[in-house]
Amino acid sequence: MNKKTIEQLELMLRREVMRLEKSFTEDLVRNSSTMRVLSERVRAMEEKDVVKSISHILAKCDFCHNNTDRYKCLKNMPCSTCIYNFLNKRLTDIYKEKKGSGNT
Ligand SMILES: [Zn+2]
Repeated sequence: MNKKTIEQLELMLRREVMRLEKSFTEDLVRNSSTMRVLSERVRAMEEKDVVKSISHILAKCDFCHNNTDRYKCLKNMPCSTCIYNFLNKRLTDIYKEKKGSGNT
């Protein structure tokens, strides 16, 4: 993964966060059940694979880097899987970067 790819991913992530915030605000205004769903998911997170739980929460909020249209995902799989794969890869990269750079 080169620097340009990471920068593109970060830009994509920032855009997605903005989209997520907008979508979340809309959901909140429309229906407070979004808050209930999220708090349920956060509670479930304490018992489960944290990355997987976060992926499910983000998928619920249409947070997917492959999801250009609100209800359409470019990958032929559930968005929670897209997001899980993305987060897993990113975390692995971060771990490798940290290991590579040492403790100085
Ligand atoms: Zn997706």
